[in-house]
Amino acid sequence: AKKAVLGPLVGAVDQGTSSTRFLVFNSKTAELLSHHQVEIKQEFPREGWVEQDPKEILHSVYECVEKTCEKLGQLNIDISNIKAIGVSNQRETTVVWDKLTGEPLYNAVVWLDLRTQSTVESLSKKIPGNNNFVKSKTGLPISTYFSAVKLRWILDNVRKVQKAVEENRALFGTIDSWLIWSLTGGVNGGVHCTDVTNASRTMLFNIHSLEWDKELCEFFGIPMEILPNVRSSSEIYGLMKAGALEGVPISGCLGDQSAALVGQMCFQDGQAKNTYGTGCFLLCNTGRKCVFSEHGLLTTVAYKLGRDKPVFYALEGSVAIAGAVTRWLKDNLGIIKTSEEIEKLAKEVGTSYGCYFVPAFSGLYAPYWDPSARGIICGLTQFTNKCHIAFAALEAVCFQTREILDAMNRDCGIPLSHLQVDGGMTCNKILMQLQADILYIPVVKPSMPETTALGAAMAAGAAEGVGVWSLEPEDLSAVTMERFEPQINAEESEIRYSTWKKAVMKSMGWVT
Ligand code: ADP
Repeated sequence: AKKAVLGPLVGAVDQGTSSTRFLVFNSKTAELLSHHQVEIKQEFPREGWVEQDPKEILHSVYECVEKTCEKLGQLNIDISNIKAIGVSNQRETTVVWDKLTGEPLYNAVVWLDLRTQSTVESLSKKIPGNNNFVKSKTGLPISTYFSAVKLRWILDNVRKVQKAVEENRALFGTIDSWLIWSLTGGVNGGVHCTDVTNASRTMLFNIHSLEWDKELCEFFGIPMEILPNVRSSSEIYGLMKAGALEGVPISGCLGDQSAALVGQMCFQDGQAKNTYGTGCFLLCNTGRKCVFSEHGLLTTVAYKLGRDKPVFYALEGSVAIAGAVTRWLKDNLGIIKTSEEIEKLAKEVGTSYGCYFVPAFSGLYAPYWDPSARGIICGLTQFTNKCHIAFAALEAVCFQTREILDAMNRDCGIPLSHLQVDGGMTCNKILMQLQADILYIPVVKPSMPETTALGAAMAAGAAEGVGVWSLEPEDLSAVTMERFEPQINAEESEIRYSTWKKAVMKSMGWVT
């Protein structure tokens, strides 16, 4: 058969907490042509610890690339049309590897991991000068969430890493760095780099100067020679060294939340999106200026789409547990067999019947930042069943988003007219309707929910030397929107929300 004629294509790796995907888009329409997805194991070696195997992550990327290319072949699409590859990734997750052997020296410590709680407590007491030392440079509160403390823990506790640092063989990276180094050749000339968005989540990066910060590295005790080079989010970092796409430039790199912001075309000051994956992350573009929150939000680098292009910043509300609550109902309670089933259960009752579920499994992130909070299910009666709990779990995701949006309104002063959403959970229609009801504004979802991958592909395709994507709305003609309008009245919504807040108070300060 004759191969179909298409515009230039761009691929994107989306390495998330729960799975890895590779997707290929048409750069003229943003049509998703083919993709492949592989689930990633999470290990919980002790309570509060979350690890992943960096090798498994890397192999999953190769597998997804190969399988996607096979599927394209079956569609008679010539893979030589793929002109660039972008990488987006779970942020903060920390890897240390040996540059001579290419072997990871410890498992990846995942962003949700809580082992650094005591490190965080002792560091918080030692902050030099005023309390703003870390936040004013990085936009972040000192928390178990960010890479610096995870790296500090690895340096303190893993003998193999200490030795490799002494022998100048150790490299540190977030998942993007680990992947790009490996994909561009690894021990045979792999490029050790990261982009400004991923760097901004390490707590070692100065978001004003856009450089690693010497004082922060001293404060956290991090040797600067193990850090990757920081590049923009859109430029050619290197070429794929193996596999079906050998020779194709890797030219886009964005932390997943920044990638989604780009994929949703939130390029204007005040535009925001919320992504519902393992956690839930609401980012609002604040343009060229850093806005510092008074209400528990983070200041972070949104993107810098080219070496000579300006940097854009965002305010971010991070919620640790969103889709992870579905996974918990499936894996730990076993009340559903697949993620989709949560919707069926919730639909059966259509209400939580006064049951509230605060899934503070890893403490609470924004706006509370309480590492000692733990999950609770409250308001139970003899009448409560698994359907009500499923409903309360979905409602929890929506309430947490409402709290972020409230904080953002207080910091920025401009209420959003609607909320743009994406991520794995947004295929759940009950969740989307509940979200519109609880926020009391419309929720708008693109027909193609893979906006994280799309953003990475756009950055890769727009890079200097690639130039196949213009970042204009015309190039997204394949993406249509679905709207969910609020259906309950505002008063009812307020009552539910204030009861939720009561439940949150009960979850806080649990661990002493
Ligand atoms: P990540 O990028 O963090 O890996 P995804 O965007 O792939 O996450 O979303 C997967 C998450 O969404 C999982 O935690 C899963 O439990 C949850 N999820 C997937 N489908 C549904 C659904 N229909 N309803 C509720 N939760 C879902």
